[in-house]
Parts: sequence; structure tokens; C-alpha cells
Amino acid sequence: MPKENEQIIIIGAGIGGLVSALLLSKQGLKVTVVERNGYPGGKLRAFSSQEGPIDAGPTVLTLIDVFQEIFTQANLNIFKELDLHKEELLARHYWPDGKCLDLFSTHEKNLSSIEKVFGKIQQLNLISFMEIVRRFLMLLIIRC
Ligand SMILES: Cc1cc2nc3c(=O)[nH]c(=O)nc-3n(C[C@H](O)[C@H](O)[C@H](O)COP(=O)(O)OP(=O)(O)OC[C@H]3O[C@@H](n4cnc5c(N)ncnc54)[C@H](O)[C@@H]3O)c2cc1C
Repeated sequence: MPKENEQIIIIGAGIGGLVSALLLSKQGLKVTVVERNGYPGGKLRAFSSQEGPIDAGPTVLTLIDVFQEIFTQANLNIFKELDLHKEELLARHYWPDGKCLDLFSTHEKNLSSIEKVFGKIQQLNLISFMEIVRRFLMLLIIRC
């Protein structure tokens, strides 16, 4: 546990470093963030193109509750600070053979999208995989 007048140095201005810096400085600690790139954000960045910016890292903001909690701890309201809109279509993936898979914000829509593009067997494979992940998660929750 850091002492109040201790100097904290955070290596890296990715989202992890920035959130840590925000929360620690809100506790009154002196925080310096050191970043090797000429810009903050780490993997959160975009390339410019003729068609406009293209995300090179995260495109989907999940676990809004976690972000909300971080903002609240910093005495901020996420919905006032950011202009957030819920998107139905979360991602569109292209394959070299021309296949195009849309992913949505609901599990049911994703299952039918996967069936449409890759067939029933792949849809069932995904259902089995998600069941394994669910059980794994339950085990972790029970052990923690
Ligand atoms: C293509 C892609 C898509 C993704 N999509 C999603 C998504 O849709 N939703 C989602 O939630 N997550 C997504 N992620 C994951 C998410 O981007 C990362 O989990 C998150 O950005 C990691 O943040 P971080 O701060 O831990 O690390 P990073 O963003 O990697 O930040 C680390 C920082 O530390 C700096 N650094 C490292 N070493 C040093 C050093 N020695 N000195 C100084 N600085 C240093 C680096 O330059 C960097 O800026 C995606 C990631 C990628 C690559």
C-alpha cells in the first residue's frame, strides 16, 4: 500500500496505465506516467486513411459497468464525459474468399449470423465452446 507522499511512476500510457494514474492521483498520490511512444493510448489508436480513421486496436467497449465504476471513483459521470451510443452491429469481419460475418450485441443474433455464414456445425461448435467457457468461469468464480 503506497504512502500518501510517495511518488508513483507508471510505465506505459495504455488504458491500464492511464486508469491506474487517474485512480491513484484521485487518492492524492503524486503520479508520473512514462510512455515510450509520442502519444498516449497504447493499443488504443487509429491509422488515418482516405476514408477516415481506422481503428488499429479495440473497437468494442464492453463491460460498461467497469468503466462506469472507474469514472465514478474519479468523481466523473461517464455519460456526461463521453458521447456513448449503443450499436446493434458491433463488428463486420471479411475473409479473403469473400465471406462476411456480422457480429451483434446479442448472443442469439450472433448464433444466426454464424449459421448463415459458416453453417449449422460451426454454430453448434460455438455453442459447445461457450458452454465450456461458462463452466470454466463458474469454477473460477467459486474458487475466488
Ligand atoms: C487489434 C486489437 C483489437 C482489440 N479489440 C478490443 C476490443 O474490441 N475490446 C476490448 O475491450 N479490448 C480489445 N483489445 C484489447 C485492448 O486493446 C487491450 O487489452 C488494452 O488496450 C491493453 O491496455 P494496456 O494498458 O494493458 O496495454 P497497452 O495498450 O499495450 O499499453 C502499454 C503501453 O506501455 C508502453 N510501454 C511498454 N513498455 C514501455 C517502456 N519500457 N517504457 C515506456 N513505455 C512502455 C507502450 O508503448 C504502450 O503505450 C484489442 C487489442 C488489439 C491489439
